[in-house]
Order: sequence, then structure tokens, then C-alpha cells
Amino acid sequence: MPIYEFFCRKCQEPFTALMTIQEHDKQAPECPRCHDTKEVEKRISPAHAVTTRKSLTY
Ligand SMILES: [Zn+2]
Repeated sequence: MPIYEFFCRKCQEPFTALMTIQEHDKQAPECPRCHDTKEVEKRISPAHAVTTRKSLTY
């Protein structure tokens, strides 16, 4: 199972979540701090480069 990186806009905190590709496609996980899902944005995990996005800035 790949590890995905996410960023919570509410907390301004990045976090990682372990989930299947199917889960990742249809839903965002909840933030471990505020438990919100709406303010969570996806980041592409560098460990698992199955992506069409070419540039990633940290
Ligand atoms: Zn949060």
C-alpha cells in the first residue's frame, strides 16, 4: 500500500496516510489533527511516483 502525502490547509500541517490507490482516488483522508476532510489537499508522494504531475515544489 503506498503512502500518500497530504496537506491540511486548516492546520497548515502536512501529514501522510497509508491507503490504497482506489481509496486515494475517491476520497481524501481526514486530517489527524482537526479530523476535517474538506481542507485536505493531496500531495504526491515522492516514494511512489505514479503520477502525471511533473514538477513538485516543497
Ligand atoms: Zn487539519
